Amino acid sequence: MNICVVGTGYVGLVTGAVFADLGNDVVCVDNVEAKIAQLQAGRLPIYEPGLEEMVARTAADGRLAFTTDLAAAVRRSVIVFITVGTPPTDGGRTDLAAVEAVARGIAQAMEHYTVIVNKSTVPVGTGELVREVIERHQPKPVPFDVVSNPEFLREGSAIEDTLRPDRIVIGAPTQQVAMTLLELYAPLERPMIITDVPSAELIKYASNAFLATKISFMNEIADICELAGADVGQVVKGMGLDPRIGPAFLQAGLGYGGSCFPKDADSLIHTAATLGSDFALLRAVVEANRERVPHFLRTIEKVLTPLDDKTVAVLGLAFKPNTDDMREAKSVEVIGRLVELGARVRAYDPAAIENARGLLPKGVDYCESPYEAAADADGVVLVTEWNEFKLLNLERLRAVMRRPVVFDGRNLWEPERMRRLGFEYHSIGRKPALPA
Ligand code: NAD
Repeated sequence: MNICVVGTGYVGLVTGAVFADLGNDVVCVDNVEAKIAQLQAGRLPIYEPGLEEMVARTAADGRLAFTTDLAAAVRRSVIVFITVGTPPTDGGRTDLAAVEAVARGIAQAMEHYTVIVNKSTVPVGTGELVREVIERHQPKPVPFDVVSNPEFLREGSAIEDTLRPDRIVIGAPTQQVAMTLLELYAPLERPMIITDVPSAELIKYASNAFLATKISFMNEIADICELAGADVGQVVKGMGLDPRIGPAFLQAGLGYGGSCFPKDADSLIHTAATLGSDFALLRAVVEANRERVPHFLRTIEKVLTPLDDKTVAVLGLAFKPNTDDMREAKSVEVIGRLVELGARVRAYDPAAIENARGLLPKGVDYCESPYEAAADADGVVLVTEWNEFKLLNLERLRAVMRRPVVFDGRNLWEPERMRRLGFEYHSIGRKPALPA
């Protein structure tokens, strides 16, 4: 099938590469010339495990191409996917400018019946908006349909998630249009849900809002654990064995970040309000999430105060492991505050340092390894739970530190083990461990 994917970011590039890998002819479009030039030269603008190899393979086979020419790409395609960004604006409203711009471009280029698919996360009603924009901007009437096909991939495992999604949601105006998408996705042999466009749009927001709720719920339980001397890890284990609850997404920590959960939760609250419904529960979830980093910082401040003569190593900058994405990363808030308090910060991340430079305060030292970051530090702060940190040589880490204090924002290590290794160890929802 001839396919066009507009917007070559985390979602578009992965979607394009996977469809090409399944044997389709795919053209990926972006309006940033430098990005397209980079992709044409075989270099990836983002880090995502396995993506570079898949892009190289499918491009070499002639099934994946890159262009800034939206019109030409639309004319050769049966299906056009919109995968551009939908960033938040003030008050939780979603900025649909890029989606609308692409819809106008498609309208002006279209010469034959085309299926336009919204894969970007867009508020309920956007399918209808895209239909109106296209109708208004067509030079002459050409038939088309607008489908909602929300994306559920997770950065860091995006290829695997796209090849083996838990479900494929197709919101289509008619059964016949849905069949086009069914045919495209058939080789994946995954569960598919065919529904109407507004329901598909809401499935995405309801899913992310529910996951955010689980995270905030568990973090609030972690606070109670700290006050009561209980261990949140044990509580999660006991809860998670109940099949009605399940263990997934119940890890206490610094709260949710990234390019999706914060903006999607805010957007759903805004949508609800626009429709006349107050989503008080979700507002509380957002508020609880906002409190996570200040809560963690209060512990750091209490233990290390005064900070103006301290060196603090921060391990992990990306908003989560296996990505270089710094959007809404907790490291920005943590490091911002430490620097404000006068601490010298030495930071390390396996993939996100380049993206972090522009977002973190000047004066942060970027290091080549966790050990280099921890050298002569008065404390190590773990922000992102990269696998590499699970496998750290903790004896070596302690040996290079000036004062062996660890603040673990992700409960990556076991308190008893840290105590035995000679650390003072503070984590989330568990009693602090003091060295033996
Ligand atoms: P991104 O910022 O990484 O990529 C968006 C791309 O669109 C950029 O390359 C940008 O240059 C391009 N673009 C913007 N305007 C354009 C235009 N007019 N014409 C052509 N290209 C244009 O964003 P992303 O993370 O890939 O997210 C895209 C959408 O998918 C968002 O709605 C997001 O909420 C949703 N989503 C993201 C994820 C994720 O994990 N990143 C997961 C599921 C859904």
